[in-house]
Amino acid sequence: MTTETFSFQAEVQQVLKLVIHSLYSHKEIFLRELVSNASDACDKLRFEALQNADLYGDQPGLNIYLSADKEARTLSIRDSGIGMSRHELIENLGTVARSGTRKFLEALSEDKRGDAQLIGQFGVGFYAAFIVADKVSVTSRRAGSDEAWTWTSAEGGNTFEVSSAAADSPRGTTVTLHLRDDESEFLDDWRLRSLVHRYSEHIGFPIHMRAEKKGDDESDDAKAGSNEWETVNQASALWTKPRNELSDADYQAFYQHVSHDFGEALAWTHNRVEGNQNFTSLLYLPAKAPFDMFSGRDERKGLKLYIKRVFIMDASEQMLPNYLRFVRGVVDSDDLPLNVSRELLQSSRQVERIRGALTKRTLDLLDRLANEDKEKYDSFWQQFGNVLKEGVVEDNGNRERILKLARFPSSLSQSADDRVSLDAYIARMQPEQKAIYYVTADGWNAARRSPQIEALTQRGIEVLLLHERVDEWMAGYLHEYDGKPLRNVAKGELDADLPSAEADKGKAEQADKDAAPLIERLKHLLGDKVSGVKVSRRLVDSPACLVTGEHDMAPHMQRLLAAAGHAMPQSAPTLEINPGHPLLQRLANEADTAKADDLGWLLLEQAQLTAGAALDDAAGFVARMNRLIGA
Ligand code: ADP
Ligand code: MG
Repeated sequence: MTTETFSFQAEVQQVLKLVIHSLYSHKEIFLRELVSNASDACDKLRFEALQNADLYGDQPGLNIYLSADKEARTLSIRDSGIGMSRHELIENLGTVARSGTRKFLEALSEDKRGDAQLIGQFGVGFYAAFIVADKVSVTSRRAGSDEAWTWTSAEGGNTFEVSSAAADSPRGTTVTLHLRDDESEFLDDWRLRSLVHRYSEHIGFPIHMRAEKKGDDESDDAKAGSNEWETVNQASALWTKPRNELSDADYQAFYQHVSHDFGEALAWTHNRVEGNQNFTSLLYLPAKAPFDMFSGRDERKGLKLYIKRVFIMDASEQMLPNYLRFVRGVVDSDDLPLNVSRELLQSSRQVERIRGALTKRTLDLLDRLANEDKEKYDSFWQQFGNVLKEGVVEDNGNRERILKLARFPSSLSQSADDRVSLDAYIARMQPEQKAIYYVTADGWNAARRSPQIEALTQRGIEVLLLHERVDEWMAGYLHEYDGKPLRNVAKGELDADLPSAEADKGKAEQADKDAAPLIERLKHLLGDKVSGVKVSRRLVDSPACLVTGEHDMAPHMQRLLAAAGHAMPQSAPTLEINPGHPLLQRLANEADTAKADDLGWLLLEQAQLTAGAALDDAAGFVARMNRLIGA
């Protein structure tokens, strides 16, 4: 018999090290991972057999067997699933099968390497076996093939071996773990059963273990354990059970199974829909965002599509809008054709309807959470709020609902985490206040110190502080909520909006007149850097601020996009000034033109800096500053 030796791909060695060292405190998850692979393998065979029933041969059952051998100190997990060819053994177990793994390694900077929570979210898979075993062998016969192969690897080695196995090996895969000396607990029947109950109770296939020995005779038979197999899990796809037969612990265990998360789900919704579409859905909100929440838009996972209990594929992309990509769970349709393809899923009216229904279910769940458990809802928003905000842009039909779920800090907040809903904002609006006001900025401090909000906050008007990157994009779609206009206070005209503007009208006109020469001076100096200069109604303490056109992008966003290589349309902002400020008074009275010019440019540059815009001429700015300071 020939044995060939192969090297693991470099990434595999890294993953192995990481898994063994970081996950020791969660070592029992190896069983969850191996059982989950066995279950996946059964799912795959059932799926392939839809096209080719011969694949079952004379063994139609799909089963998982768990057995421990105390003498040999081995634990085996066998499944009668799809199996692996020689090539597949080498590919799947010798290289990092999923492109996500490489990204994961990159995402995991050195200081996070010990973060088991993070690694758990990623689903460590097969290599978890090495947490408890120093040698692992995998014997597999692919369904439909009469060749079987054995893959073996021992700890610490950078290699694995593949040799041919007995041709009468059963269909499917047997993973045998040679347990480390201190891992004897996993030979214990009771321990194994309790792990199956904890992690694998509701997978769709029966897990069998040797029946417990009867009697106390010392015969060899009893020592070796009974030869009878018994099913130790419920093996009923959990979602097919009625809600009242399931406990929270059942739901949580199943969540861990579908999500590979160590943590608990925050909330879930389990529904059977009957009508012109029949389907069951079980949707979970995770408590923590996975590490690739923002980078992983392209390869989404998390919602498994079943058709009449046959696993078809991960269909998160087709079944849920992008902005709900954090949802995990299962949807099981009675009506879709079993041979459904990705293309069909993309275009089918039926899928469109299910997608609409799942979206509604998820938003309902969020509503309920927001109303019933503020603390949980806040933690949801903290983790996923920025993803949900994408829905304001992408989902016209649900915009109002999503805005109802949104939470933002405001000028009344003590910190960026102290947030208010739009409904709560409206409930405490000033009596004469017509609009909901907000400002966008690049960061919390920039937002709360925005000069544009000064006049409003001085009058006791609350301003929402939209300080996250996604906010500026979303703001383009904020027009109205609950019949009230949403107004960006750093854009366009504000005067007419301001309560008590009427009363101040006379004063304002006088101020415009008085400032006319100053305004002329600044216009002349700043040229096309600004589209205009005017007396501000927004400012109280700051000397000046920038105001962009109603449909122009905020200055901080223009800077970010320009830095990312996007061509920016050059629309100059308006410079608004506060003539009462000492800097402006000094400028008005400055006889020395060179000094006046310095002051004028500094005024613009300050306004640019507070708005998060890029300075055209940073060195010029520094030189001006130094001249003024007298350095
Ligand atoms: P994942 O399950 O997330 O794909 P794993 O590391 O758990 O990653 O497994 C890697 C691959 O090895 C699987 O995608 C599958 O192709 C293969 N595999 C693992 N276990 C089995 C098994 N019991 N039967 C068939 N294939 C398996
Ligand atoms: Mg796996």
